[in-house]
Amino acid sequence: MKQYPRPLNKLINELSKLPGIGGKTAQRLAFHILNLTDNEAANLADAIVSAKRSLHYCSVCGNLTDQDPCLICSDANRDPSVICVVETPQDVMAMERIREYNGLYHVLHGAISPVEGIGPNDINLKSLITRLQNDDRVKEIIIATNPNIEGEATAMYISRLIKPSGIRVTRIAHGIPVGGDLEYADEVTLLKAIEGRREL
Ligand SMILES: [Zn+2]
Repeated sequence: MKQYPRPLNKLINELSKLPGIGGKTAQRLAFHILNLTDNEAANLADAIVSAKRSLHYCSVCGNLTDQDPCLICSDANRDPSVICVVETPQDVMAMERIREYNGLYHVLHGAISPVEGIGPNDINLKSLITRLQNDDRVKEIIIATNPNIEGEATAMYISRLIKPSGIRVTRIAHGIPVGGDLEYADEVTLLKAIEGRREL
């Protein structure tokens, strides 16, 4: 037999399109799925479809949510005077895990990267400026983009854009290794990085 039956091939093919999943892993996952009960397989398929259908970006902060504004933006117990700017929804989760930060967020969905042709208009930045113009409670912007070239360029750009308005702009400290991802930083490192933030 040179090839798997067509439906199995299709499953392997779709799985191998996922990030970090090579051909071998895709095969292993496909056979694992085949061994699930009908119910389990339906639950998996349903989780994929319903996550895709029900999740969207918060109209205020850009975080992933199934309600608008998201739970964080609509939480009256959070401090509206601080906004932490991050690259991805995963970074929001990383910040939330340390349970020390009680301000709000703004998710850029990327970073400025001249090399890849990603400019300020290609990320969720305009909405941050609009947000600041419409909300005079904001006193500090903590920029928590990743400590790599793109993250630094983005931090500098945002800083230059916002500082004239008189809002304090800070950058998290480099407890996070250069080139590392905020998402994967451990909680102590991330906490130190926030506590050691500096003025931009
Ligand atoms: Zn939100």
